[in-house]
Amino acid sequence: MNEWWQKPLQELTPTQWEALCDGCGRCCLHKLQDEDSGEVFYTRVSCRYLDTTSCRCTDYPRRSALVPDCVTLTPGNQEPLGWLPPTCAYRLRARGEPLRDWHPLLSGDPESVHRAGISVRGRTLPEDHVHPDSHEEHIIHWVDEEAR
Ligand code: SF4
Ligand code: SF4
Repeated sequence: MNEWWQKPLQELTPTQWEALCDGCGRCCLHKLQDEDSGEVFYTRVSCRYLDTTSCRCTDYPRRSALVPDCVTLTPGNQEPLGWLPPTCAYRLRARGEPLRDWHPLLSGDPESVHRAGISVRGRTLPEDHVHPDSHEEHIIHWVDEEAR
């Protein structure tokens, strides 16, 4: 029998939609966009509201009010999927791909995303510690990879 996370994104309930997040925290890293090409580059600089150990937002209900750039993904707003990391559960499912075996829904263990080297745990710089003009110096490429 199919599990709920194998259904099309549009068929998920709000609770299932939230549970689909793997907790990697990659989307909470600051990004830079090339004005000419539109290409998006991730940096190791993390949003001030990211708990860099759990890799979860410390004020999730108010995130949009606190951080105007914080995009809320919904079944009706999948436009941001293009710049989300290739490992993101929403991006994978939007493309009809299965979740990876380190996803907590498959492993039954929220730590599996960290053990697999997918989460940002231990690899970030809090934005309060980085000059806003120096983000370019902190561009990273491991977000484009499956694992560390
Ligand atoms: S990148 Fe995707 S799966 Fe990872 S924390 Fe962000 S929304 Fe969740
Ligand atoms: S406000 Fe929360 S969800 Fe939004 S980018 Fe920051 S840590 Fe992530």
